[in-house]
Amino acid sequence: MECKTTAVVSGDVNDSIDMPDLPRRQFDALIIGAGGGGLRAALQLANADASVAVVSKVFPTRSHTVAAQGGMNAALANVLPDNWHWHMFDTVKGSDYLGDQDAIEYMCRAAPTAVYELEHFGVPFSRLDNGSIYQRPFGGQSQNFGGDQAARTCAAADRTGHAILHSLYQQNIRAKTHFFDEYFAVDLLKDDQGYILGALAFNIHNGEPVIIEAKTTLLATGGAGQLFRTTTNALINTGDGMGMALRAGVPLQDMEFFQFHPTGIAGRGMLITEGARGEGGYLVNADGERLMERYAPKAKDLASRDVVSRAIATEVREGRGCGPNKDHVMLKLDHLGEDVIQKRLPGIRQTCITFVGIDPAVAPVPIFPTAHYTMGGIPTNRDGQVVMPVKDTPEEPVPGLYAAGECACVSVHGANRLGGNSLLDILVFGRAAANHIIDYLSENRYHRPIDSDSLESAVNRMQRWDRKGDGEGESVSGLRDELKMVMENHCSVFRNDEVLAEGVAKVEQIVERFKHARIDDHSAVFNTARVEALELENLLGVALATIHSARARQESRGAHSRTDYTERDDINWMRHSLYSLDTGLDYKPVRTKPISVDSFPPKARVY
Ligand SMILES: Cc1cc2nc3c(=O)[nH]c(=O)nc-3n(C[C@H](O)[C@H](O)[C@H](O)COP(=O)(O)OP(=O)(O)OC[C@H]3O[C@@H](n4cnc5c(N)ncnc54)[C@H](O)[C@@H]3O)c2cc1C
Repeated sequence: MECKTTAVVSGDVNDSIDMPDLPRRQFDALIIGAGGGGLRAALQLANADASVAVVSKVFPTRSHTVAAQGGMNAALANVLPDNWHWHMFDTVKGSDYLGDQDAIEYMCRAAPTAVYELEHFGVPFSRLDNGSIYQRPFGGQSQNFGGDQAARTCAAADRTGHAILHSLYQQNIRAKTHFFDEYFAVDLLKDDQGYILGALAFNIHNGEPVIIEAKTTLLATGGAGQLFRTTTNALINTGDGMGMALRAGVPLQDMEFFQFHPTGIAGRGMLITEGARGEGGYLVNADGERLMERYAPKAKDLASRDVVSRAIATEVREGRGCGPNKDHVMLKLDHLGEDVIQKRLPGIRQTCITFVGIDPAVAPVPIFPTAHYTMGGIPTNRDGQVVMPVKDTPEEPVPGLYAAGECACVSVHGANRLGGNSLLDILVFGRAAANHIIDYLSENRYHRPIDSDSLESAVNRMQRWDRKGDGEGESVSGLRDELKMVMENHCSVFRNDEVLAEGVAKVEQIVERFKHARIDDHSAVFNTARVEALELENLLGVALATIHSARARQESRGAHSRTDYTERDDINWMRHSLYSLDTGLDYKPVRTKPISVDSFPPKARVY
């Protein structure tokens, strides 16, 4: 590994390789994405004296991790008895038995350390009276393998992601991580042996491109919530890393499993954290009934997210929805009292007042399921290495390429993620990927030359959008809006073959029309029009993977709920899907064997 002060200094311009005349910078490790996953990895690398560059299309502390509210799971047992094995059981059950049990064991065992590390980085966790870290109950958590409710979610009020992201950013500044703020990564660069060697990016402010050469590249670009019209996700969550992986020939795994969070503000999509129900909030229908008693008699409002989302959608479909259009249910929090709401849920209170003019300390809030989390993504092993099937082998690492965070699929969430497990996932596997990169760098000490075809193709992609529209072709923004509507109408909480088949045809048609699209003149400031076009191309790849995988999976499992195949089918479908742009769909087995304990065999999932 090169030290920051040796011959190839972090950020030096290197003209030794024959490539187009573009500025070039060299680093040991390139990290694309400055959310919790990317920053945790960067910190580990910088502290190990690797030269690290982090590229982010927004200022790092605006990455979407900042929006995480309720908290992060770890079996600390500060409030109720707990241990990592119970956490593992809940996660396997929550995943509807599609999660890989070795990765889940690894994550649940590592969770307490991950929390204590954050505490030492300066994260101001909420505290109990005895000074230990506050933990709240979240959905799908249990004691003793399915017994009483557990309290496992470590929180900094309802601003946990904000606290984590700012602490990690400050630690990275101290460790001298190099940041390319507001740079857009266009595509991965590689050599003719398939080694991934960095990326082409450009400065969003002035459009200047830069080749970032690196011995290793980590994708940490977050999820793809912008696939859907109503979403809790920010505008930046466009699945760019997944798009880059697809174009590099890497298939996407388990994309049919998209989480719809039960409590988005109806019609708007802003999230009300599950922590609100963890603090004692509950859902009521138009008749004032606590509706979850019907669907999850034991866990009630703290059943797993897929279960609660389906319950709300069913209430509305069966005519028990609230409001003039009977199109939502209500989340009741006012019985908790103003003190609890102000202490534990201050951000939620403000969001409700700002966006719907309702103070939850006084009145219930209208809610409906909202697109929230991408369970699938770029397939990796526990070390964060991107893996794909190669010739006759089941799968092999792509040399130099890593992925961590919401863009990756390791797979700890399987068919349904438990609340509080994503912050945990991004931190545990961001760190694990960095540790593997450190080893890789010690064996791969020199930069390899980038293949000119790979660079040319990335440059061409970027330059396509230099030309403004000539009046012909459809606008990028129009196509993007249409894609989001199609995905919302054809690939939502409930699905069936007829609806999905129509959706596949519509998405494929938008992909064709995009080839002749033009960028919008009105948004051609600071290169935002170009960014939006490149983002839409990424979203289209992710949409194809999602809707094709959803149509093919003829069963109901976790968040994938088919009205024409209502049962889980472990004989035919307990397998991961893989969708590639070149070869379409393929499947691989679930890793049911944990590292050190017995497997949890599939059972009926009751809450
Ligand atoms: C409203 C909300 C609340 C949530 N609350 C919780 C919670 O309480 N607990 C929990 O466990 N999980 C929660 N989640 C989920 C969790 O926050 C996310 O899954 C997680 O933070 C994702 O982190 P990440 O590092 O993978 O990506 P992100 O934080 O999304 O960061 C992605 C990064 O990639 C960069 N990027 C993307 N594309 C490009 C490109 N082309 N070029 C350059 N840079 C690029 C972005 O600029 C950004 O820096 C919540 C999610 C939402 C939406």
